[in-house]
Amino acid sequence: MRILIVEDETSIANFIRDGLQEEGFAVDVSDNGKEGLQLALDFVEEYDVILLDWMLPGLNGIEICRNIRKENTVVPIIFLTAKDTVDDVIFGLEAGANDYIRKPFSFEELLARIRVHMRKNETQPFLFSAAGIELDIDKHSVTKKGVPVELTQKEFSLLEYFLRNKGKVCRRTGIIEKVWDIHFDYDTSVIDVYINALRKKLDEPGKPSIITTVRGIGYKIEDDE
Ligand code: CA
Repeated sequence: MRILIVEDETSIANFIRDGLQEEGFAVDVSDNGKEGLQLALDFVEEYDVILLDWMLPGLNGIEICRNIRKENTVVPIIFLTAKDTVDDVIFGLEAGANDYIRKPFSFEELLARIRVHMRKNETQPFLFSAAGIELDIDKHSVTKKGVPVELTQKEFSLLEYFLRNKGKVCRRTGIIEKVWDIHFDYDTSVIDVYINALRKKLDEPGKPSIITTVRGIGYKIEDDE
């Protein structure tokens, strides 16, 4: 799950970025309208939601929104705005935004809006299961044969990635990019630490691991449906 934030107020951008990263999102931030639009257009297929400030240096949020909509009609766009007169809000929605949120807002409020719009746009389910394991994105919970399992944020994101791709081999480079949000040459041995932790929490003693090692390539969870 990847989110673009275009916001020139550093304190607000950092506040949102840190909160979203804690929730397991990959986040890109731009503090400039032109650069923000370029990022949005270059990676529009990658973004699950775009958060746009209204007043920005370079290009304002309305213009960015209109330009994105020329290329892509699906990606949810939410305005972050102090402009809260009815006319301004209508103007924003007519430019192609899906929603707006007024500053100041609480992080929980923003997160709830993001989830609503991701769900509308989401063709995949928010519940994933395999091998007796169930992962619920909405509740942020994991159960094993109905019994809750406590996972750290990264363990959760890694398991989510495997379940979204169940039946397929997940390559180590893909895992490091999608789960750790690292796009340069990087020691991927960190993955092993998390695989071991997940296996300890999810596997049945004495039985083969639900996470299969595909030697020299990566890992997979079998699709049992
Ligand atoms: Ca601004």
